[in-house]
Amino acid sequence: MSDFWDGYEQKPYGKGNPYYYCVGCGRSNVHINGNLARHGSGCTEVEKRRATLAQEAVMALPEVKGLAERLAAAQADAREAEAYSAELEATLAVASHNATAFGHKIVALEAKLAKVVEALEAGVICTTKHGGAAEFLRIARATLAELEASHAGKD
Ligand SMILES: [Zn+2]
Repeated sequence: MSDFWDGYEQKPYGKGNPYYYCVGCGRSNVHINGNLARHGSGCTEVEKRRATLAQEAVMALPEVKGLAERLAAAQADAREAEAYSAELEATLAVASHNATAFGHKIVALEAKLAKVVEALEAGVICTTKHGGAAEFLRIARATLAELEASHAGKD
């Protein structure tokens, strides 16, 4: 017990002496200087103090127990969060992989669409000319064949 304590009952020496003494052991405040160990042996004030501290410790036990339980629960939560985080990371890696694959498919589809648009534009030009319908049909068939070939080659 090294904490400063001057909560014991004190009385003045009186008769012009400015100092006080402990009523439990008679030692002066100056000698005791807040140190529990400096009271006289069998000091009733020190015994009272020890009893109070013991009682406070007993009263604090449920609180300490509650804190320990909360700490254990928090640790369990932290472990669960860590496991969940690892799971999320794995899911994210799969999703990222899928997104990349999907992106490649979109790029391929965009290229095919560009070919279709090109063929349609050529077709619009053809229909304004003599014999353009046959030319349009030829372009459309060629584009279709090209797209079917590229589709068969890919997936
Ligand atoms: Zn004392």
